[in-house]
Amino acid sequence: MDPMPQSPTTVLNWTHRLHTLGEDFYTRLPPQGLPSPVWGSRNHALLAELDWPEALFDDTGLQAFAGNVVLSGSEPVATVYSGHQFGVWAGQLGDGRALLLGEAQSNQGPQEIQLKGAGRTPYSRMGDGRAVLRSSIREYLCSEAMHGLGIPTTRALCLVGSPMPVYRERAETAAVVARVAPSFLRFGHFEHFAAGGRTDLLQQLADHAIEHHLPQALSLAPHWQGNRYAGLLDEVVQRTAHLVAQWQAAGFCHGVMNTDNMSLLGLTLDYGPFQFMDGFAPGHICNHSDTHGRYAWDEQPNVAYWNLLALGQALQPLIGDVELTRKVLKTFESHFVRAMGDAMRAKLGLIGPMATDAQREADWLLVQALLQCLAQERVDYPLFWRRLSVAMAHEDGTWHMDAPRWRDVLALWLYPQAFEAWLGRYRQRMALAQPAALGQTMLRTNPKYVLRNHLAEVAIRQAEQGDFSEVDTLLALLQSPFDEHPEHDSRAQLPPDWAAHLQLSCSS
Ligand code: AMP
Ligand code: MG
Repeated sequence: MDPMPQSPTTVLNWTHRLHTLGEDFYTRLPPQGLPSPVWGSRNHALLAELDWPEALFDDTGLQAFAGNVVLSGSEPVATVYSGHQFGVWAGQLGDGRALLLGEAQSNQGPQEIQLKGAGRTPYSRMGDGRAVLRSSIREYLCSEAMHGLGIPTTRALCLVGSPMPVYRERAETAAVVARVAPSFLRFGHFEHFAAGGRTDLLQQLADHAIEHHLPQALSLAPHWQGNRYAGLLDEVVQRTAHLVAQWQAAGFCHGVMNTDNMSLLGLTLDYGPFQFMDGFAPGHICNHSDTHGRYAWDEQPNVAYWNLLALGQALQPLIGDVELTRKVLKTFESHFVRAMGDAMRAKLGLIGPMATDAQREADWLLVQALLQCLAQERVDYPLFWRRLSVAMAHEDGTWHMDAPRWRDVLALWLYPQAFEAWLGRYRQRMALAQPAALGQTMLRTNPKYVLRNHLAEVAIRQAEQGDFSEVDTLLALLQSPFDEHPEHDSRAQLPPDWAAHLQLSCSS
C-alpha cells in the first residue's frame, strides 16, 4: 500500500499496541508530505526526556516529520471516532488531519507519535487535512506551556514549516506539529462504537484502554460491584475533574470542549482557540465561533461533566446498569470541588495535607471572595498571582501596605480598597504561618511566564516572515515558567492594547 520511501535506519523501538485492535478502528495510509520543509522548532528537552535519539532531528527526521518519508518501522494510521460538537451529535469525525505514526518505546513508557497536518484521510470530510503555521505554533507552544505548569497534556516534539499555501480566512502556509502522548484515545472513540451498536468493538476498545493505559480501573472496580467498566469510567471521571480544576486555577480556557477533543487519559488535547485569560472575567469566551458561550471559562466544569455523561452513556452497554453508571458520574462533583479547592489554596500558599473539611470550606470562601474581587475590576490574572507571590516572599510579617512589594500588587487595581479588605482576611488566615516561606512556595505555583495570546501572536508574525527565534525563546521560557529569567521581563507584562482585538476561531 505504501509507495513512500522509508528512512534507511530504524531509530525508534516501535511497539504499535493500538494496531492490534484491527482495521475496524483505523485506516492505514501514508502521510501526504509538505514541499520544501524547514524546521520551525525542535523540542530537545522532550527528546532527552524520552531518551529518543538526536538522529530524529537531522535531515531525514525533517523529511519524516514533514511526511515526505516514513520513519523506518512506523505504520501510519488514521483512527475513527465520533462525537458531540457544541452539544449536538455530529456523527463520524475521526483523524481528519492527524496521522498516527505508531507507538514507540521511550524512557517514559510507550508513546504514540502523531503528525498533525499531514494531509487528507478518509475522515477529512470537507477539510484539506492541513494545519496552518499559525495554529501549529499555538499548539506547539501551549502543549509545552501546560507541561511546564504541571498540567496533564499531550506533548509537542517538533514543528515543521513549509511554503505550501493553505487557505483559511486568508492564504496562509502549511505546517506539521509532531505530537506525543501515551494515547490519543478520546471520549469520541467510545461514542463511535456505541452509536454504531458495535458492543463487541466497544468492549475490545475498553479492554485495550484498561490493559494498556488505565489499569487503575481494575483497582477501582471493587467500589462498583466489581464492574471493571464502571471502574474505567470512575478513573476517567477523576482524571477529568483533576484536569479541569487545573485549567480553572491557571485561568485557561480550552475553547472547544467537544467530546471528540476530550482525552480518555485526562490530558489537555487539541489546542485550537484556547486562551490563558488576561483580565479576570469568569464568563470569558475565547472562541469567536462560540456564539452562545458554551465553552466560557466558568462553564468548563459543567461542560466536562456533560461530556462525561456522554462517555457514561457510551459505556453503558458494557457497564450494564444505569443506576451504577449514574452513581459513578455523580462523583465528578466532589472530585472537582476537592481538586479545585486544593489548586486555589495552593495558589494562596495555603498548603498542607492535614487541612480539615471545615478549614477547606473556610478557605474556599476566602478564594471565592478573592475571585469576586478580581472579577469586579478585571484584574490581570497572571500578574496578580505572581505579584502576590513576590509580595509574600518579601513579607516580613509587618504587612506595610506602602512597602514597594505591596504597592506592585495594589497598582493592579483601580480601586484597591476591596482588595485591602480581603487581604485583612488573608492575613488572619496566615496568622500562624511564615509568609516569606509560603511566598517562596507560591513562586513555584504561580508562574511568571504564561502563553498569553499576544505573546503567541508576536511569535507567529515573525515565523510567518521566516524567523522562528521567538518560538524557541518562548518555548524555553514556558518550559520553566516559574523561574525569573530577568532578561525576559518584557514577556511577563500586561498585554498591549492591540491584544484585545485578537480573534480566535475554530479555523486552524
Ligand atoms: P477540531 O475542531 O479541530 O477538533 O476538529 C474536528 C474534526 O474536524 C476532527 O475530525 C478533525 O480531524 C476534523 N478537521 C478539522 N480541521 C480539518 C482539516 N483542515 N482537514 C481535515 N479535517 C479537519
Ligand atoms: Mg479535535
